[in-house]
Amino acid sequence: MRAWIDIDLGALVRNGERLARHAGVPILPMVKADAYGMGVGPVVRALEPLDPIGFGVSTADEGRELRALGVTRRVLVFTPVLPLDFAALRAASLTPCLGDPSVIQAWRESGGGEWHLSIDTGMHRAGVRWDRIADVADAVRAAPPAGALTHFHSSENDDGTLEVQEQRFRDALDALPVRPVLLHADNSGAIVRRSPSAWSFVRPGVFLYGVGSGPKAAMQPEAVAHLRARVVEVHALEAGESVSYGATWMAAAPARIATVNAGYADGYARSLGNAGTALLHGERVPVRGTVTMDMTMVDVTGVPCAPGDVVTLLGRDGSRTITAEELAVECGLSPYELLTGLRMRLPRVYA
Ligand SMILES: *Cc1c(COP(=O)(O)O)cnc(C)c1O
Repeated sequence: MRAWIDIDLGALVRNGERLARHAGVPILPMVKADAYGMGVGPVVRALEPLDPIGFGVSTADEGRELRALGVTRRVLVFTPVLPLDFAALRAASLTPCLGDPSVIQAWRESGGGEWHLSIDTGMHRAGVRWDRIADVADAVRAAPPAGALTHFHSSENDDGTLEVQEQRFRDALDALPVRPVLLHADNSGAIVRRSPSAWSFVRPGVFLYGVGSGPKAAMQPEAVAHLRARVVEVHALEAGESVSYGATWMAAAPARIATVNAGYADGYARSLGNAGTALLHGERVPVRGTVTMDMTMVDVTGVPCAPGDVVTLLGRDGSRTITAEELAVECGLSPYELLTGLRMRLPRVYA
């Protein structure tokens, strides 16, 4: 193989176990976007033994995919749905999270079924506003939801907003004519921050897949995704010679440059040109010149290197690790974008 992602399912499961122990309540792993690019089938099969209370997805199609995999647990669809989605939701026994009064009413009039009330406490993306619960009170009374949720916008920051949002959530719950049984709010950042959780279950995503909430966080995940690619050629450059498109890097002294068989079409961002660092035989090797669609050049001056050698662009090699958080900073992406961008063209190898 020219390039691939090693996915460490053992690390994924250990990350899940630690989160569940820390939270003290069941987990509902978020497996949207093909499990953050890690591959929903193997991820769900690996997490099943943790006995999750269910799984979270974003679309009815993703929920149907879980059913096709044989998942019989509760599946929550978190992105708002429209009446045109109802048939697909019901066909796959999916639970929508609804916040718009007219959609809630349409859900009930079209046959009802389990649903959760989505409450907006400050993110202003989805859900009924916490201070407008009166707008949904009739609908809630007519067909009480099985659960209610909110979502934190800055759970990884120590800025007090989580506490404000949580108080709004409590106020909204108090204003409901019926209190739902299943209450949930915590994403990865919020889970790591508090122990135990104040709610019925937690909704971890990115931590499961190896991304923490910063070096100062109380818990750090194990790396799950390791992006590897092979060296295909090694070039000896003389001082003054340049590398790659636009000749943006020039050798100040004689250098050895290795061509690595992965580029931005594999999800290794073009912005890592002259900025990224890779690992070769456990040593750090800097990216030289622009990253191209299919190939990336690294400086192996002074490091033993031959065609066929494996370079680690993300993850662990020997005693060193390039974390998704570090790489994300280097390329100016969020770690979420980085992981979900690794799906193109790369075979996934599960261990
Ligand atoms: C994606 C998502 C999560 C998980 O967030 P992480 O930051 O990845 O832990 C939780 N809840 C909702 C509603 C989400 O959309």
